Amino acid sequence: MNMLKKLFSLEGKVVIVTGGAQGIGKIVAEHIAAVGADIVIFDMQEEKAKATADSIAKEYNCKTMAVCVDVTNPEIVAQAIEKAAAEMGTLDLLFNNAGIALPKAALDVKPDDWLKVININLNGVFFVSQAFAKYLVAHDKKGAIVNTASMSGTIINSPQKTASYNTSKAGVVHLTKSLAVEWCSKGIRVNCISPGYIFTELTRNVPQEFQDSWINSTPYKRMGTPEELAGAVIYLLSDSASYTSGCDLIIDGCFTLI
Ligand code: NAD
Repeated sequence: MNMLKKLFSLEGKVVIVTGGAQGIGKIVAEHIAAVGADIVIFDMQEEKAKATADSIAKEYNCKTMAVCVDVTNPEIVAQAIEKAAAEMGTLDLLFNNAGIALPKAALDVKPDDWLKVININLNGVFFVSQAFAKYLVAHDKKGAIVNTASMSGTIINSPQKTASYNTSKAGVVHLTKSLAVEWCSKGIRVNCISPGYIFTELTRNVPQEFQDSWINSTPYKRMGTPEELAGAVIYLLSDSASYTSGCDLIIDGCFTLI
């Protein structure tokens, strides 16, 4: 294998992608398959997850599977990890990406909506990380995790009201750092990416006035694309990042710099 290929190869690895049915998860899963990995999609949208897994298998000639998982349910998550390991033979890497936003003014947000965002975006990231790490430890394997946080975990700059989302993503950044330190001795690296505004199903349904204000406030004067996140995730999952853990890689078209 030449040096360039070796640097970012995930050849022979089995990678779980949560929230992989669509959006960032789907595009990043395609890129991960393109650099040699087999793919397991964990998502609540059963049909869409299966369609994505099938299309990746066909396009990249790799093994894939889809498991219908609600990341907020630790028992379902543990079962899904077991099922995936049994069917794929092994598990190596995790892109922990499922997430939602339910914008609402903090004075008006309903307790159920607050809990839903924290449960999916933060607790879900922990439950999948823990079940995956338990699998690695039980099988005496090293591994790596990349979590999808957000620049909203670091800065507050939204004409929309998103206290629950911002809080959940700040939690993901700190969880990433906490697990990175705790699992150093286990050989499990944990990093996160913090995207700025990325054009996906999550953002495309937001009213145009908000999208325009995001674009105007971004020095790049556009939203990013999921493709522009894929290389960062692959790098952090790969052995090229073997001395990198607890890192929060901000990919935001310079939004947070001004
Ligand atoms: P998306 O809505 O297109 O995709 C999210 C996926 O997560 C969907 O397939 C959905 O079914 C799945 N999901 C939701 N709840 C789930 C649950 N309980 N269990 C399992 N799967 C579940 O969104 P996206 O834009 O691709 O966002 C992906 C991640 O990136 C999220 O964590 C989001 O917060 C983060 N993010 C997005 C942006 C952006 O601008 N799009 C910016 C920063 C961070």
